[in-house]
Amino acid sequence: MESFREPSIQAPEEQPPEDRALRPQRMADMVGQRAVYERLEIAIDAARKRGDTLGHILLDGPPGLGKTTFATCIPRELGTTLQIASGAALAAPKDLLPYLTNVSEGSVLFIDEIHRLPIAVEEFLYPAMEDFRIDITLGDGVAARTINMPLRPFTLVGATTRAGLISAPMRDRFVIREHLDYYSPEDLAEIIRRSAVKLQMPMDDVSADEIARRSRGTPRLANNRLRWIRDFSTSRAAGAIDIDIARSALEMQGIDELGLDGFDRKYLETIQRVFGGGPVGIEAIAHTMSSATDTLEDDVEPFLLRCELVVRTPRGRRITPRGEEHLGTLPQSGSQARLF
Ligand code: ADP
Repeated sequence: MESFREPSIQAPEEQPPEDRALRPQRMADMVGQRAVYERLEIAIDAARKRGDTLGHILLDGPPGLGKTTFATCIPRELGTTLQIASGAALAAPKDLLPYLTNVSEGSVLFIDEIHRLPIAVEEFLYPAMEDFRIDITLGDGVAARTINMPLRPFTLVGATTRAGLISAPMRDRFVIREHLDYYSPEDLAEIIRRSAVKLQMPMDDVSADEIARRSRGTPRLANNRLRWIRDFSTSRAAGAIDIDIARSALEMQGIDELGLDGFDRKYLETIQRVFGGGPVGIEAIAHTMSSATDTLEDDVEPFLLRCELVVRTPRGRRITPRGEEHLGTLPQSGSQARLF
């Protein structure tokens, strides 16, 4: 390996300072995802012992579950550098060139939202991933010629919320493929306790459990809820936090017992009220809610599907009896009234 500087996270402006403060810095600091953690630890350990380059890794799962955290911890474990790119920003092969030519031996290139890479960029990546070389075409027409440029061996870590959109040739080039699932309330409560310590918020276990239950199995949401409760407490309760203050703060944000917020419930209500419970296509729901289908598919649906509040059928989305029951049990709070 030629470079051992601390991994440089190259898109700090995308993370608020507190998000960086709460993000675990080492894999050992991560809570939950034990099976994924152990498999990655073995692969990293083996690569280190053999002095080899770690195989390419694909991480998939809903937003906020720790894909970026794993991707930023892996190079630290390897003692190597990190470059961060986003699939959405890599419009043409030339956009990838600076990253590929900058890789040092054994370093990590993280591409977030890798399902958004255009096909031309994806094909440009194939030889880079497989043989550590790129083919560059110079000139046009009959004068065009292709030169092969060797690259230093590196590890590509790809993250996606939509594993289904990744083409089979791309998927097959990843040696390690891991799916991140929602966290248990116990793991989330532990994350909340650790974040509370980092934010210097005194927090009892009952409050941590309550926030965990209302965070949709997602560490990012748990941390966001925690920050809101801190603000609420500072403004309304002279900084004290107990279960009543935590509940009042969450209710003020329209977060219900299951952890759904106003937008999640608006989605359920749209299916139930406007489309008679479904089945209804995602585009029709998105149009009615003035939202993007991507937002609904990435941020809203995975948890509602997981809780069996909606189902996906060949003819569209349908609300389940459990979903109807959940809507029926909701208090008609201010946050709901605001939605329609
Ligand atoms: P993703 O890339 O999957 O959208 P991130 O890795 O950015 O999610 O995680 C969001 C936030 O959640 C991080 O900033 C971190 O604070 C927290 N987080 C995620 N996974 C864990 C974990 N396993 N242990 C502790 N905190 C975590």
